[in-house]
Amino acid sequence: MRQQFENYLRKHNYTNFDLQAVLFDMDGVLYDSMPAHAKSWQETMEEFGYKSTKPVEFYLHEGRVGKSTINLITEREFKRSATKEEKDNIYARKTELFQQINDNATLPGAKEVLSFVKKQGLKPILVTGSGQPSLLDRLDTHFPDVFTPETMVTAYDVIKGKPDAEPYLMGLEKGGMLSPNQAIVIENAPLGIESASAAGIFTIAVNTGLLSDEKLIEAGASLLLHSMTELLQKLPEIIQLSRTMRI
Ligand code: CA
Repeated sequence: MRQQFENYLRKHNYTNFDLQAVLFDMDGVLYDSMPAHAKSWQETMEEFGYKSTKPVEFYLHEGRVGKSTINLITEREFKRSATKEEKDNIYARKTELFQQINDNATLPGAKEVLSFVKKQGLKPILVTGSGQPSLLDRLDTHFPDVFTPETMVTAYDVIKGKPDAEPYLMGLEKGGMLSPNQAIVIENAPLGIESASAAGIFTIAVNTGLLSDEKLIEAGASLLLHSMTELLQKLPEIIQLSRTMRI
């Protein structure tokens, strides 16, 4: 692991980390919600007469703001942009179906990772492309006393969204105007990894989905793990390295 930390510092011209915050993506990192997202997207697109999508495609779009995904698929399928009405209606239906299908299962280890981060005196920040209603209530039920509106970046806060650097740059701001070397990111999806990496932050990819490891590495992951329980196991070493490493 030391090597990955060294590579990051050299690439970004830092001599050390000064870790203050851990920026967490939500779906596929805290919640095991990606199967329900893929299913509700696929069903919605079929209902609205789209024929070119497959469930696995939505793992590749993961992290993108919903309305951008709709626009992209509309451009591909109908060679035109989606209207505001289409974006609103399709996203509303997708959200409705998702809420019916999703069982709010959290990923094993996620809760313990958040507790450990807090115990280490680090600030957990949420950076999600999700714009679901009552997101905070849901988070507070499953991960009590971890996130507040001041420590969350959601679809409502951003203009461009992932894969642009914007959401993670905003996450650094919400962490207290942090520099990239004062945070690490936990992500599971290629677009999220691209976004975090464009923001210049050390990005740990946790491959909890259906895509190959290569897809996450190509997107710019600094380090690749396979589950939140593996992250929990390695977190003491990760934090220790971030606190002691100098180059
Ligand atoms: Ca995700």
